Amino acid sequence: MKNINKLARQEIVDMVPYQSARRLQAGNGAFASKIWLNANEASGPGIYSINSDCINRYPDFQPNNLIEAYSEYSGVNTDNILATRGADEGIELVIRTFCRAYEDSILICPPTYGMYAISAENHGADVVKVPLIGQQLDLTALEKQIGHVKVVFLCSPGNPTGNLLNKEDIVRVIEMFADSAIVVVDEAYIEFCPQHSAANLLSQYSNLVILRTLSKAFALAGLRCGFTLANTDIITLLSKVIAPYPVPAPIADIATQVLSPSGLEQVKVRVQEITVQRKNIINWLHEQKWCIEVFKSDANFVLFRCTDLLTKELIFNTLSSQGILIRDQSKQLQLENCLRISIGSERELNALKHTLATITQSQAFKEVAE
Ligand SMILES: *Cc1c(COP(=O)(O)O)cnc(C)c1O
Repeated sequence: MKNINKLARQEIVDMVPYQSARRLQAGNGAFASKIWLNANEASGPGIYSINSDCINRYPDFQPNNLIEAYSEYSGVNTDNILATRGADEGIELVIRTFCRAYEDSILICPPTYGMYAISAENHGADVVKVPLIGQQLDLTALEKQIGHVKVVFLCSPGNPTGNLLNKEDIVRVIEMFADSAIVVVDEAYIEFCPQHSAANLLSQYSNLVILRTLSKAFALAGLRCGFTLANTDIITLLSKVIAPYPVPAPIADIATQVLSPSGLEQVKVRVQEITVQRKNIINWLHEQKWCIEVFKSDANFVLFRCTDLLTKELIFNTLSSQGILIRDQSKQLQLENCLRISIGSERELNALKHTLATITQSQAFKEVAE
């Protein structure tokens, strides 16, 4: 066949893939040469051992040690946990399980995480948008969508905004969609504010799904391991849709180590360090003339708004030319001229500050600023 695209689903031919930080900027395994502050990863890895004794065998569908360790850590029953290939797979599973292709819709609250819409588009589900107002849920507008959507995605703390959604609002949304939709609360960053998790609502609400990941606070983005927490009826359904051997044995091995008491102790230390660095960089951003807004953050990144488009470009490009990579979020709804910095190490953030201190004195910046 000359043109294979004629054979493919037209919407896949037309679709623009998710512009992940790593697709925009490949690491090629040589991460040391640049400063990576664009994907909300942790700045340094832990040390793990891999057991390859049974690598000739297929892994268990849901490795016991792993599920038990996550249950212990999260306080959620083992029956209510599904281990997935990252939280991203949880997003995809919920959409494939609850949305009929070309009939049903998901609901998102932009500005928000890009994969909800990408997964929906991939599957042939429509996307209804109810934008945040002042970084919080628009309950009145959400209410109008009852009966029109099958899955509602809430992100708390939000990416790329950084703040928590009000817990009362989350409860209101779960209740208003109780008979008509699954409400997913994406808690990819909840380790940075664990007391605000919605996990304690799971026993009360059968339409609630919570997404978790080891990619952020646990410093295991390369592992591709996440967890979907929900009522057993939902877990049973998702288990029919997921691949037969979703969690490779070495992944389960490492993930179980990070969830051990000593592993969790390291995570706690990392979260404390990140919180200190976050406070420093927020204070510093507030002092910069080119920064007109710093968003509240309960996560391991901070979003800020530049005075104008040229300044935003200059800041982004200057950092990038010095090998310091941050994320441009300015294409998102309500986020004109906004950039996002992942909270790396003190050394990495100092390099960023120094680079930006030099540009504010540069001729190019003065011309832009005037
Ligand atoms: C990073 C991120 C994810 C994806 O996590 P993985 O486990 O790496 O797939 C999901 N949701 C949000 C909001 C994220 O920021």
